Amino acid sequence: MQFQTFGANRMRSGDMNLVEDSAMLSLKNYGNGIHVFDSGYLKPGLDAIHLIVDNGRVAFVDTGVSSSLPNARLALQTLGLDALAVDYVFLTHVHLDHAGGAGVMMRDFPRAKLVVHPRGARHMVDPTKLIAGAAAVYGDQYVREVYGEIAPIAPDRIIAAQDGEPVTLGERTLLCLDTPGHALHHLCVFDQKSGGAFTGDAFGLAYAALDVGERRFIIPATTPSQFDPEAMRASIERILALNPTALYLPHYGQAQNVPQLGADLLRRLDAIVTLARREYDEEAASTRLRQALTDYLFSEARAHGCPLDDAALKDILGMDIELNVQGLTHWLNTR
Ligand SMILES: [Zn+2]
Repeated sequence: MQFQTFGANRMRSGDMNLVEDSAMLSLKNYGNGIHVFDSGYLKPGLDAIHLIVDNGRVAFVDTGVSSSLPNARLALQTLGLDALAVDYVFLTHVHLDHAGGAGVMMRDFPRAKLVVHPRGARHMVDPTKLIAGAAAVYGDQYVREVYGEIAPIAPDRIIAAQDGEPVTLGERTLLCLDTPGHALHHLCVFDQKSGGAFTGDAFGLAYAALDVGERRFIIPATTPSQFDPEAMRASIERILALNPTALYLPHYGQAQNVPQLGADLLRRLDAIVTLARREYDEEAASTRLRQALTDYLFSEARAHGCPLDDAALKDILGMDIELNVQGLTHWLNTR
């Protein structure tokens, strides 16, 4: 995600307090040494951090923001592990809801190496551009309050992972896969031991609030400013070709029945791109596109069996719809 514009309701101080409410950590165990907890970013259920444990060695996948650090410490403590057990912090990409907390985490985990896409590495050494980019969209104050400290990371602690690069954690191998489409600095992490894939935002978003029984509702994340539909399709197909036993999404958690989700996701990606081409016109800015995308996703959610009314759906998806409109508009303007 990142570069979302929030409705004014997201900025109420009540919501902001959730970020600090780290005593309420719930750590979920998916088996195979894979765990998840909430980063605390903006509201519960929005942004997950995954944890892989193998023979007492630990890797985090994504970091949330700097205020997520107490949750990360608490997760380790809950598992009877400490900061010295952390060998790796993987970043699926350097959007700030995934990577904003990386600097403070690396400071806290002295043995850890940061594993990041080569295109993201320099931004973690010098986050000035990331901070400036976010500030240009939201303003300095918002960036300070929501993202907090974005600390630089020493270059000798960073592994700029090439496509296919294996990383050994305990006795398991984690493969880094170049997966553009959501962002050019995006990698997925495939865990050979469990057959699970940590897909970042490349394989879309699925919020628990939209689940119908076991069935998850998945939508693409067409975020600015590097959304590329053809690359996204290729990355989704590449992930599907691995036959993953499960996906682990930052937004949000484990997803099974991967072939069905892949079909849903590709169909919705095509539909959204078609709709964007049809509805976007520069005169009306993105108003028509926003309405068309909202109508489409709400009707898809209803067809999925989701019983929520428009207000509830807007509460869950409004931020992503705004973000997706921005990304689609940027793509149409610059392709
Ligand atoms: Zn993202």
